[in-house]
Amino acid sequence: MSSSADKVSAKPRPTIKAVRGTRDLLPDQTPLWNHVESTARAIFSRYGFGEIRTPVFEDTSLFSRSVGEETDIVSKEMFTWEDRARAASEKAQSLTLRPESTAGTVRAYIEHKLGESGALQKLYYIGPQFRRERPQRGRYRQFWQIGAEVIGPPSSGSESPLRDAEILEMLSSYLDALGITNWTLQLNSVGSSEDRARYNAALRDALAPIKDKLTPDNQRRAETNPLRVLDSKDDQDQALIAALPKIADFLSAESRVHFDAVLAALDACSVPYTLNPRLVRGLDYYTRTTFEFTVPSGDASGLGTQNAILGGGRYDGLSEMLGGPRAPGIGFAIGEDRLILTLQALHASGAPHLASEMWAGKKLDAYIAPLSPAQNPVALALARELRAAGLSIEVGEGTFKLRKSFDIADSLARHIILLGEDEVATNTLTVKTFATAEQTKVARAELFSKLRH
Ligand code: AMP
Repeated sequence: MSSSADKVSAKPRPTIKAVRGTRDLLPDQTPLWNHVESTARAIFSRYGFGEIRTPVFEDTSLFSRSVGEETDIVSKEMFTWEDRARAASEKAQSLTLRPESTAGTVRAYIEHKLGESGALQKLYYIGPQFRRERPQRGRYRQFWQIGAEVIGPPSSGSESPLRDAEILEMLSSYLDALGITNWTLQLNSVGSSEDRARYNAALRDALAPIKDKLTPDNQRRAETNPLRVLDSKDDQDQALIAALPKIADFLSAESRVHFDAVLAALDACSVPYTLNPRLVRGLDYYTRTTFEFTVPSGDASGLGTQNAILGGGRYDGLSEMLGGPRAPGIGFAIGEDRLILTLQALHASGAPHLASEMWAGKKLDAYIAPLSPAQNPVALALARELRAAGLSIEVGEGTFKLRKSFDIADSLARHIILLGEDEVATNTLTVKTFATAEQTKVARAELFSKLRH
């Protein structure tokens, strides 16, 4: 062997790790994710929602035109690249991994003319989103959202405050169904786009004389996007923010009536809420109702400072911003990663009401243990037959010692099936049920009904 080959084998190659801000979800975690998702599907469908799946990347201008150039998301957090043309017939294009899914959903609504039927569209999605944020607990660069949008022509009732209340009531039912009981719904109205424009102007005026006292990021926002200053979590800014004008004083009579109707419907459904006049949510497309569901911050909630588990609001002008027809709408996005962290923290603190199927996958029905390599093919054939009948089966190895087979079987399955020469010859199998420690001989024809229970 050459000496250079020796050198290669002596020095192991560096391993490749998941990219900063991304995570692997392993099989001991995915049952909880699946539970959270299947509960969402079950509950959303009771409200008439259907699933939409849009691409994970879109034309960059979709986000700059809807989310807004001046937002953190668009100005510094997007994963954007210049996609080269591969053929003369193609154009080079700036593409972006989606940082949220409302823009893509509304693009699809316009592209597929979903409004033309005249019916209200109720769409939900579950999928990964991408933002180049500073990773920390509860904040990732690839994260998952479960979201929904209600959108349609005004004649479909899409503007009705009842839609806002229904969405909020659905979210409260969903969180309750998961066993998350410590949520607070923070609610506000940012008014129509005209109300917002007047408020933005008033904020700009109020911020001008105190600008120098703000943190550098907010000094910039005070000019470019004054609403965003209200989102600041910085203590230095908080005291100054408290003295700024409130959006409630800038709402038109129409916006006020709409918001009051949302509150009345929530009261009728006994959904509790806290009015938060500072909750403006910085994205350009929001109008009227805005909301966030939070859980207590700190270690006990599992989220640290990232305690918003979902956010949303109305976006009555978004379709027009994207060149579409008038189509008022309202939607939300749940941070699935944060929902999971919250559930894990509740579980760790001993919350007794959480469903047990959240935490682990179900055990297999049976583990087949061939007693020598000669039985391996028969074991695989038996497994094939039982799986085809709908049972979940793992097959062991004839080289395993009996003790090892029992140990593995006990950790994976409810039964072990021993398959030796005798068993094959007599067409009977030895089956042990771990829960009762009962071991019996079972005729081949009886096997399925024995394993089912
Ligand atoms: P937003 O569109 O920013 O309001 O996001 C809606 C929800 O998604 C938030 O309330 C969070 O729960 C979640 N979320 C947003 N950004 C991240 C992130 N970088 N990592 C994990 N979850 C996030």
